[in-house]
Amino acid sequence: MRTRVVMMRELGDETVLVPEDVDLPDPGPGEVVLRVLAVSVNHLDLELRDGRSRMPLTFPHVLGREVVGEVVETGPGAGGWTTGDRVVLLPHVPCGGCRHCLTGSANICLNGWMPGIHGWGGYAEHMIAPARGLLRAPDLPVETIAAVPISFGTAWRALESVARITPGEWVLVAGAGGALGHAAVQVAALAGARPIALVRDDNKAEFARSCGAEHVVVTGETDWVDQVRTLTDHRGVDAVVEHVGGASFEGCLAALAPRGRLVVAGGHGGEHPRIDVIETFRNEWQVLGVRSQRPDDVERVLGLVEQGRLRPHVDSVLPLERAAEAHRRIESRQATGKVVLVP
Ligand SMILES: [Zn+2]
Repeated sequence: MRTRVVMMRELGDETVLVPEDVDLPDPGPGEVVLRVLAVSVNHLDLELRDGRSRMPLTFPHVLGREVVGEVVETGPGAGGWTTGDRVVLLPHVPCGGCRHCLTGSANICLNGWMPGIHGWGGYAEHMIAPARGLLRAPDLPVETIAAVPISFGTAWRALESVARITPGEWVLVAGAGGALGHAAVQVAALAGARPIALVRDDNKAEFARSCGAEHVVVTGETDWVDQVRTLTDHRGVDAVVEHVGGASFEGCLAALAPRGRLVVAGGHGGEHPRIDVIETFRNEWQVLGVRSQRPDDVERVLGLVEQGRLRPHVDSVLPLERAAEAHRRIESRQATGKVVLVP
């Protein structure tokens, strides 16, 4: 099949993303061909593109991890999917057989397959996808669906499964104007917790409030950690979603209450922050990692979006050919919520 993709032939800035017509092979056993209806642009895409992710890619490569599509062709054994089905492709397709998959931790699967990393992703008019990585798409606009799996799935996992927040707890969310942050504020509010949003500047404060933040603190101000502690009657916060790194990580750790949990979901703003080990053990602080999402996390948040209880905010929808512009928009931190490409 002849199709159009946004090709990437080397690492570099956004100019390495070049639309190109290519021949797509026929789907193999257990595979389908998807017509891509929408694909989200994630910050990780930028890091894959310029090499910061430290994940090896095979060139030529096509990015795109968060895909909504329609099945247009099926290989042998395509798991009951048929032409015309509207589907969501899991951003992390677990193997189903390794020790993590078999013990309820498919998000850290040893042999997982990620579109746009381990194979060509969704910056394309068509792509080949494993049938076992498909979920039925809810009845929502495709741009909205594309904004759900990674940010809301990860936020759900971070707060519900890892931090295990309970109603009434203070939850601090770093980078609350971004895709993961705006999802985490909503998940915290939905759980009955009290979200405090951290934003870089005043422009994103109103947006964070609209997502359900009880308070918004601007990290550009030098005393932001004191402001957070004051808001909690000097007790500190019970849980944090941190994905910025560097000074943000250090400040969030200092803002924890005794026995507080800091969940790390990223940190390219500074990968080696300082940790005060004395304060950490005296307060029994917990620093916990969260990696991607399990299939049931994605199903859960898609259901909550369908019910209107979580509301992904789509910052902008751009045609596929303008993938480079989408990357610039995210890099410059102008975007609030998600940037989506539509072929
Ligand atoms: Zn596995």
